[in-house]
Amino acid sequence: MIEETIFSKIIRKELPSDMLYQDELVTAFRDISPRLPTHVLIIPNRHIPSVDELAEEDEAAMGRMLSVARRIAREEGIHESGYRLIINCGADGRQEVPHIHMHLLGGHDVGPMITRKG
Ligand code: 5GP
Repeated sequence: MIEETIFSKIIRKELPSDMLYQDELVTAFRDISPRLPTHVLIIPNRHIPSVDELAEEDEAAMGRMLSVARRIAREEGIHESGYRLIINCGADGRQEVPHIHMHLLGGHDVGPMITRKG
């Protein structure tokens, strides 16, 4: 079995977090180190290490993650000003925690998407 991360403990509430939403498929909580006024992580409850390891059975959870992002953006009052959703994958994607997570970022202009390289 692939070793679970700190996020599994957050899902099970064995570790504290500022949790905003949880259902049978996904959990959302504020990032411990927010880069913008709104910085929320939305994750599947099942431990899926990265997008590269998604299975067909995960499609419902991935769809739910988007619906929950929309819902939280509205609750945070950033749905009209806009926001960015990011999922990093693997080394070049600079994924740090090997449990799929979608960043919901907003509250002011997030800046350009990425700096052009090579
Ligand atoms: P990544 O770089 O893997 O896409 O993003 C990982 C994110 O998880 C980072 O933004 C980091 O601040 C956040 N993070 C890491 N450990 C914890 C934690 O224990 N609690 C919370 N709420 N966020 C965490």
